[in-house]
Amino acid sequence: MGRMKRHQLDAEERQRQATCLGDIADSGVDVFCWCNRCGHNAVIETARLMAELGPGFPVPEIGAKMRCSSCGSKDVATRPSWPSLGQVTRHD
Ligand SMILES: [Zn+2]
Repeated sequence: MGRMKRHQLDAEERQRQATCLGDIADSGVDVFCWCNRCGHNAVIETARLMAELGPGFPVPEIGAKMRCSSCGSKDVATRPSWPSLGQVTRHD
């Protein structure tokens, strides 16, 4: 019994950590991509990715499907483009 519960908690923990496209779409946040090889970066519209991958697709896994448009590397990292972690935007 204890073991089953533990397993369930682990699954919930993972789910909480993986932000999905649908989550950031609700917040109006786009996806920030970063090439680990050359440092090229870009912001991609969440709506565009969601049309292709679906709202349940985890944002950190999008990088595995991307290729750098600058150097062609597939070593691309992705994360939600939260305003607090980069460009400072303000909505009054
Ligand atoms: Zn690159």
